[in-house]
Amino acid sequence: MPSTIETRCCITGGGPAGMMLGFLLARAGVDVCVLEKHADFLRDFRGDTIHPSTLQLMYELGLLDEFLKRPHQELREIAAQVGTQTVTIGDFTHLPTHCKFLVFMPQWEFLNFLAEQGRRYPGFHLKMQAEVTDIIRENSRVAGVQAKTPEGPLEIRAPLTVAADGRHSTLRKCAGLEILNIGAPMDVLWMEITRRADDPAQTFGHVDAGKFFIAINRDEYWQCAFVIPKGSFDEIRARGLPALREQIVQLSPYLRDRIGELSDWSRISLLTVAVDRLARWFLPGLLCIGDAAHAMSPVGGVGINLAIQDAVAAANILAAKLLHGTLTEEDLGAVQKRRTFPTRATQALQVFIQNRVIRRVLAGSQSVAPPWPLKLLRRFPYLRRFPARIIGLGFRPEHVCTPEAPRPKT
Ligand SMILES: Cc1cc2nc3c(=O)[nH]c(=O)nc-3n(C[C@H](O)[C@H](O)[C@H](O)COP(=O)(O)OP(=O)(O)OC[C@H]3O[C@@H](n4cnc5c(N)ncnc54)[C@H](O)[C@@H]3O)c2cc1C
Repeated sequence: MPSTIETRCCITGGGPAGMMLGFLLARAGVDVCVLEKHADFLRDFRGDTIHPSTLQLMYELGLLDEFLKRPHQELREIAAQVGTQTVTIGDFTHLPTHCKFLVFMPQWEFLNFLAEQGRRYPGFHLKMQAEVTDIIRENSRVAGVQAKTPEGPLEIRAPLTVAADGRHSTLRKCAGLEILNIGAPMDVLWMEITRRADDPAQTFGHVDAGKFFIAINRDEYWQCAFVIPKGSFDEIRARGLPALREQIVQLSPYLRDRIGELSDWSRISLLTVAVDRLARWFLPGLLCIGDAAHAMSPVGGVGINLAIQDAVAAANILAAKLLHGTLTEEDLGAVQKRRTFPTRATQALQVFIQNRVIRRVLAGSQSVAPPWPLKLLRRFPYLRRFPARIIGLGFRPEHVCTPEAPRPKT
C-alpha cells in the first residue's frame, strides 16, 4: 500500500517555477508539498540567469541582501561578438528596478536559497527523490499524484496539483492536455572549460560563419553552450571531437590552450530545445505553469523569468482561495489568462529571432557582419534599453501581493 500525504497544494517539479510557488504559498500560510525527482539541485541546469525582475521580487520580499551573498556575477550590459565586431545588445542600467543588473548564479544556488527560505514556514514540505508517475483522478477532477520514492510508492492528495515539471512534463501528458508545438531549429551542446584570470571577464555570445557559441563566466570555469542545428548531434559526433574543438577555438581563440579538456563526449551534454505551449493550462484540480505550460527557447535567456513570473501570478491569484478552501476552476483560468499575453509575446519574439537570425547563422558558411538592428543599437545607445527591458523584466512583470502569514514563535 502506498503511504499517503494530504496537503492543500501538491507541486510536481523543484525547478524555478515549482520552488518559487512552493515558497510563496508556504509564506502565505498554505500547506504545500513540492516533489522533485532528483536527490539534489546540483545538476546541469538550463540557464543560470536571475533577471532584474526576480531581483525586484527578492527586494519586495526583503530577501535581496541575503540572496546576493550567494556566489554570483553581475552584468550591467549584454554584448555579443558578431564576426569580428563586438556589439552591446542590452543596457540594464536604466531599468525601473531596484537592481539595475542581471545576475548569473548557478541555478542550484538559487533553488537551494528558495528551499532554505521555504523551510522557515511550517507549511513548506519539499520531498526530494520523489518522481511523480501519474495523476489521481476522482469524480472527474485531479485529486493528487502518485510518486516513486526510495521508501516506496507515495500518494499525495490535494485540492490543487500544480505541474511545474518542465518541458517534458509527465503531468501534462497524463492529463492529456493539448500541446501546440511551435518548434525550434536548434539544440545546444553544454560543457565546462577552465577559466583563467586573464580571460575576457564578460559573458559573451560569439557568432560567426555557421557557428554560435556562448560562454558564461562562473569564476573558475566557463559554462559553455555551443548551438547546433536541430537533430545534427549524431553527425557532429561522427565528425569527431577534434573537429568540434576546432570550431569552438575558431570563435574563442583564448580557449585554445585548454580546449583539450573536452577529452571525450561524456564531458558534453546535449540539451534539446523545444518551443511549445498548452492550449489550456488547467483542468479541475490541476494547473500547469512554467515550461510545463509553455516550453521556452533559450533565446534571450528568459525562460526562468517566465517560470518565476507564472509562479508569482499563481500565488497572487490562488493563495487566499487555497487557504480558505474556496478554489474554483475559474481561479485556475484566471492564472492562464494573466500569463497568456507575456508567454505568447515572448515566444513570438523568440521564434522571430530563431528563424531570422539563428537559422541563418547556422546555415551559413561565410563570416557574418552585424545585421542592421544591431548596427542601430551600436549607433544609438539609447535603443539598448529596449532589449534590456524585454530580457530583464519581460512583458507584464508581476509583483508579490500575498501577505506573509504569522509564523509560530520558536
Ligand atoms: C539549452 C537551454 C538553455 C537555456 N538557457 C536559459 C537561460 O540562460 N536563461 C533562462 O532564463 N532560461 C533558459 N532556458 C529556459 C529555461 O531552462 C526554462 O524555461 C526554465 O528552466 C523553466 O523552469 P521550470 O521550473 O518551468 O522547469 P525546469 O527548470 O525544467 O524544472 C522542472 C523540474 O521538475 C523536475 N521533474 C521533472 N519531471 C518530474 C517528475 N515526474 N517528478 C518530479 N519532478 C520532476 C525536474 O527534475 C526539474 O527540477 C534554457 C533552455 C534550454 C533548453
